[in-house]
Amino acid sequence: MPLKNFVCTLQFWWFFIAAASFIYLNPLFGGDNFMKAEHFEASWMAPIFMRNLGLTVVYYEFWHHTLYRMKLSDRKFKPRWPAPGVVMRNRFWTCMGAVQWSAWEIMYAHMFATGRLPFMSDTAITASWDNLARFVLWTLFTPIYRQVHFYFIHRLIHIRPLYKYVHSLHHKNTDPEPWSGLCMHPIGECTIVLY
Ligand SMILES: [Zn+2]
Repeated sequence: MPLKNFVCTLQFWWFFIAAASFIYLNPLFGGDNFMKAEHFEASWMAPIFMRNLGLTVVYYEFWHHTLYRMKLSDRKFKPRWPAPGVVMRNRFWTCMGAVQWSAWEIMYAHMFATGRLPFMSDTAITASWDNLARFVLWTLFTPIYRQVHFYFIHRLIHIRPLYKYVHSLHHKNTDPEPWSGLCMHPIGECTIVLY
């Protein structure tokens, strides 16, 4: 399989962004830093909120700017561009999603640091071949698991009452633009994030 088939995928670049931000933009990375999460303190929680919100705004605003402001793309379904009010609504709910992901990340880090959930420390990953193999295999399996989870959870939130009160916010976007992909009601966001 040519290397470009692996590199030229969104999954690859999402993995690259996730790994780089985990190493370079993570207040809990390296040494004993993970144990800071034993206690809820702004010194490690605030950088997680700022990183997730910052990356979200930069990533989606980049595509919005290049594809829609600079008009480097054609309109797929409708010749008109989405109204500014629609884009602002999508920005708002996407950023609310980033706040929720951050809260879940903080909760998980706290559960790991206090021993309530099992985890493998950064140093333990390279301590044995067995640990390294488990780390690599779980990393490769995650996108597959995520797709299967997303399929079933997406079917679930299309059941009528959930769709009407929760997921219809996302599908108000009949003419998708970059900010519409993650424009979700907080409950819909919760079902998708927790995989
Ligand atoms: Zn849907």
